[in-house]
Amino acid sequence: MYPYTATPCLLEDRTILITGAGQGIGKAIAISCASLGAKVILLGKTSCKLQMVADLIISRGYLAPILIPFDLATDQTPDYVTLAKQLASQINRLDGLLHNASIAIQLKTIATLTDNEFKNVMQVNVNGAFSLTRHLLPLLYKSNDASIIFTSSTVGRKGRALWGAYATSKFATEGLMQCLADELKDTSIRVNSINPGATRTAMRTLVYPNESPISTPLPEQILAVYHYLLGPDSKGINGQALNTQ
Ligand code: NDP
Repeated sequence: MYPYTATPCLLEDRTILITGAGQGIGKAIAISCASLGAKVILLGKTSCKLQMVADLIISRGYLAPILIPFDLATDQTPDYVTLAKQLASQINRLDGLLHNASIAIQLKTIATLTDNEFKNVMQVNVNGAFSLTRHLLPLLYKSNDASIIFTSSTVGRKGRALWGAYATSKFATEGLMQCLADELKDTSIRVNSINPGATRTAMRTLVYPNESPISTPLPEQILAVYHYLLGPDSKGINGQALNTQ
């Protein structure tokens, strides 16, 4: 596991937006960030899943989250403008933006991938993250120590047969991270990526339906690197592609 241990108040006074916060890795990160003192903003497609995560956070006595039901499959600029405006009316600044939401599809060759499957994966995993970043940058600039994290994958660093759409989207994600990190290198915003590695979630089961679940770690077991990048100890770390191990 990543060699970092968060101190109990590591994220106190920080406001952190997590996409795909309703289940899987995003849910685990949201709860742990709240437990470390952050005000978390939960963004996801399915409202009731966000509400369940929020209820859990509140029941444990952490700061009440902000909920943003939002479908990253939308390519409509006004949707992102409205989101950013609504958020700006609720918070003064954003200290963390974790692009965690993604979709995957069952393994198939590029020859059998449909145009729509490819486009949908690229829209949610790349275009959505791009648009959200662009519209939330003004709020991130208001922080004196902000961290943007993109979520990659092993196949986003080395391509592999049958992963055409998802792997391409993760390579694009790494490219977006590197360009943004370089553009922001003299600012108070750092930009990095994390490859979670094989983790026991619904996405993993979709791609590997026959795998024994106990062969992969739980989301709660891979969080140290996320804490590191979202907290002040990673100040100055920029443009890096990190792993959870
Ligand atoms: P899950 O499928 O469990 O969760 C994905 C989350 O993304 C869900 O909360 C989902 O919300 C949200 N999401 C999907 N589509 C949209 C959309 N159109 N708009 C808004 N939110 C959306 O995935 P994991 O937790 O496994 O994955 C988290 C990240 O880690 C992803 O980026 C994935 O690519 C990456 N990753 C995961 C690995 C693994 O083994 N699990 C390995 C390598 C990388 P809803 O449920 O409402 O649809």
